[in-house]
Amino acid sequence: MIETDIIIIGAGPTGLFAVFEAGLLKLKCHLIDGLPQPGGQLTELYPKKPIFDIPGYPSVGAAELIDNLMEQIKQFQPGFTLNEVAETIEKLEDGTFIVTTNKGTKHHGKAVAIAGGLGSFEPRKPELENINFFEEKGVEYFVKKPEMFEGKKVVIAGGGDSSLDWSIYLADLAAEVHLVHRRNEFRGALDSVEKVQVLKDKGKINLVTPAEVVELKGTDKLESVVIEREGEREEIVCDYFIPLFGLTPKLGPIADWGLEIEKNAIKVNNALDYQTNIPGVYAIGDVNIYPGKLKLILCGFHEATLMCQSVYNMLNPGKKFVLKYTTVSGINGFDGTRKEAEKAVVKSIE
Ligand SMILES: Cc1cc2nc3c(=O)[nH]c(=O)nc-3n(C[C@H](O)[C@H](O)[C@H](O)COP(=O)(O)OP(=O)(O)OC[C@H]3O[C@@H](n4cnc5c(N)ncnc54)[C@H](O)[C@@H]3O)c2cc1C
Repeated sequence: MIETDIIIIGAGPTGLFAVFEAGLLKLKCHLIDGLPQPGGQLTELYPKKPIFDIPGYPSVGAAELIDNLMEQIKQFQPGFTLNEVAETIEKLEDGTFIVTTNKGTKHHGKAVAIAGGLGSFEPRKPELENINFFEEKGVEYFVKKPEMFEGKKVVIAGGGDSSLDWSIYLADLAAEVHLVHRRNEFRGALDSVEKVQVLKDKGKINLVTPAEVVELKGTDKLESVVIEREGEREEIVCDYFIPLFGLTPKLGPIADWGLEIEKNAIKVNNALDYQTNIPGVYAIGDVNIYPGKLKLILCGFHEATLMCQSVYNMLNPGKKFVLKYTTVSGINGFDGTRKEAEKAVVKSIE
């Protein structure tokens, strides 16, 4: 059982910043995310896009913002359960919670902050009759462990950044890489399109366009895919088929937790602290809804801050919290002087 003060579901920007605000109040956090890496939509959907509306940054890359948030929270040593979806929640008699993931990992905390954004991302699957049968028998929707494709014959389908990036990466690792896309043009970064072209010319990627995978074949596991190109069918012998058609956001298991839901989002008390209809369970960031809600990163940061104050007050009834600016109070208990700050930075780097 993983023990913490606040169980945070979702390691997007909102969940990550909540760790910092909780840390200032000496509250420990543990984050759960269904994705293999932190960052939510920023790392999964638009890592290379610049963001222009983060206060103090005229422009910051999405992936860079997540790196900075990770750096900022490092000093508070949050725990992470990645690649696992929070599936069930149980409220114990003493008011604490147990959150269990789809892989059975249990987390015990005094409060729960749902920072689930658009929900758990689910891969968009191509409409192929027997695709469910071949899942984990040759069909993969994510490249989580690239080493498993070493020396294998791989067919990748899709026209965006993911399909281009993984084709480039696997070209040096796999025995064969076939990239199938239904158009001749790709939607990904120009630089990646050019790299694929170079690898095609070197014979390291077999570019199959305009074409679609129309059939999967095999007995116990995937053995080949059939593609259709301009009315003609051909079969490609392969070990793996990786369709990379993007991700569909779904509220997922959280929808069954007895929370008040409106328009696929969780209703919260925005006049106070972003608590849901279940006392001790909060919803912050893109996942919540209230009058005037804006789905923006900086709004998630604000909501995370108020949520942490509320948890502090709940756990310390009667104790008056005096808000101090970090420039005055410092972080981690130091006094905020430059000398103390430098010491703390050195300590957190160590
Ligand atoms: C293309 C694009 C451009 C954007 N540009 C901007 C911009 O310029 N400025 C701006 O302010 N905003 C922008 N946004 C919006 C911004 O990305 C969101 O407001 C922000 O990501 C919300 O952060 P979050 O942490 O609340 O949720 P998310 O980033 O969605 O993260 C939620 C995380 O929760 C996880 N999760 C959900 N359910 C579960 C579960 N049951 N178990 C485990 N994990 C779970 C998900 O896997 C995900 O990682 C943009 C969005 C898009 C799509």
